[in-house]
Amino acid sequence: MGSRVIDIQEVAWAAGFFDGEGCTTRSSHRNGVSRPPNLTVTQVDRRSLERFQAAVAGMGVIRAVRRRADPRQRDQHVWVTTNWIQTQAVIALLWKFLGPGKREQAHWAFRVWIAARVAREARRMMCRNGHPKAAAGERCRRCAVGQTLRWRAKNRARYTAYMREYGRRRTASRQYARAPN
Ligand SMILES: [Zn+2]
Repeated sequence: MGSRVIDIQEVAWAAGFFDGEGCTTRSSHRNGVSRPPNLTVTQVDRRSLERFQAAVAGMGVIRAVRRRADPRQRDQHVWVTTNWIQTQAVIALLWKFLGPGKREQAHWAFRVWIAARVAREARRMMCRNGHPKAAAGERCRRCAVGQTLRWRAKNRARYTAYMREYGRRRTASRQYARAPN
């Protein structure tokens, strides 16, 4: 971790560095898991990434990237944000000094991610027949009533028998309750 003090000159340098070497990745969806966008800067020289990390208040992590495919290529290092809050914080910090290209890239990646989250929340608030729910994860009341009515229509005989049985039991328990000690 680098320094946590914000040095505005270093922030300006970091924004220029990010403009040239950095990237806002797009959100992804893999194995049922949605991942937010993150920021990455890839370099052979780890020291410039350490300077960058210090400039952004020590946020993000630096990892080694091995390039086994081609032995002539040198190992690289990547600075990367590790969560959505951090990604937003670093972009906000650099924003004033960022060029239009990197601003637009971040803007769209963030927009797509936020829209996907809003859509997911909206889906959770709706049953599969499109009825609105009072709370996420709750059973749809309108569909539950419909199911009951359909079951009754299909099983009219069983339903009638059940109601008769239920009525008898209720009468019996009432008589029992009224019975003198
Ligand atoms: Zn429903």
